[in-house]
Amino acid sequence: MGVAVQPLRGPMAVVTEAPMNLADDMEEFVTLHRGHGSLKADASEPTPNGYRLEIGCPCGVTFERWVTQQDAIDDLLREHCGPSELTQ
Ligand SMILES: [Zn+2]
Repeated sequence: MGVAVQPLRGPMAVVTEAPMNLADDMEEFVTLHRGHGSLKADASEPTPNGYRLEIGCPCGVTFERWVTQQDAIDDLLREHCGPSELTQ
């Protein structure tokens, strides 16, 4: 739950110990779903450890991730989802 299984992206795919890049992951979601209608981003109250991000698509799929400051995806969010209720 919450972890998407990703096909390897060709022979250059490298396994690292780092979690999947959130920005890339979100780009993929947006690319897949923006044709379905306007995506709606929602974020929980920020905590010292980050905040919980949800991007809902009208088709019923929701992208959910825990976002930390290191993820620095606020610009991406604004770009793809327009002004949102993000408080950071
Ligand atoms: Zn969709």
